[in-house]
Amino acid sequence: MRYTVMMIFLKYTPYILVFIFTISTSALLIPHSTDAAMLRPVSDTVDTEGESEEIEDEDRDEGDLSSSSRKALRELAKREPIESHAVPVFGVFPLNVTDTWGDARSNDRTHEGTDIFATRNTILFSPFDGVVRRIDTGENGGLHVYITGPGSENYYFAHLESVNPKLDEGDVIKAGHFIGRVGDSGNAVGTSPHLHLGIYTREGAINPFPRLKRFINGTEIRNLVNSIIS
Ligand SMILES: [Zn+2]
Repeated sequence: MRYTVMMIFLKYTPYILVFIFTISTSALLIPHSTDAAMLRPVSDTVDTEGESEEIEDEDRDEGDLSSSSRKALRELAKREPIESHAVPVFGVFPLNVTDTWGDARSNDRTHEGTDIFATRNTILFSPFDGVVRRIDTGENGGLHVYITGPGSENYYFAHLESVNPKLDEGDVIKAGHFIGRVGDSGNAVGTSPHLHLGIYTREGAINPFPRLKRFINGTEIRNLVNSIIS
């Protein structure tokens, strides 16, 4: 009996150690990549993205969504917007995000969002319960995803390297759901990989930075794992 227990222990220890190592290094790598971004010339790190492929919220045809998606959207519309949520880039702490709202961009434009730097292919997740509204590719935002959340706010995830292959428009998802991976697609090609996060309300774009107040929680980690393995 004791021998069997010992064998099981020895069999699984390497997996546990690899898991702990992966989690700890993914967290440790973020400050390094941010430092690297800081040390590079400004022209390298400032993305030149333009207007987002903004969702036509009022004109968006919901006719192609399933009845369960439309029902979820109606319920989300009744909820208050979430004014504090996790940084939706796995392993990135709020302290490692800087406020890039209003920064200068080419052609006299200003930056309408928050850039969250991370190593390429870092996992992105939804910071709230929502409905996937659009998965598309655009000249500026590159590969991008729109998710409608509480208060009918649309969150824009841009410059992705890839999208979760199991994600579809109309999907009703939970906070923590796997969205895709960090990249530099669209007009961010050649810059340090980052997520451009935008928030569009009925009144227009708002600054996401003040909402990025916490690290992913246990429920969100569980939803993230389930959405990856299911
Ligand atoms: Zn940006």
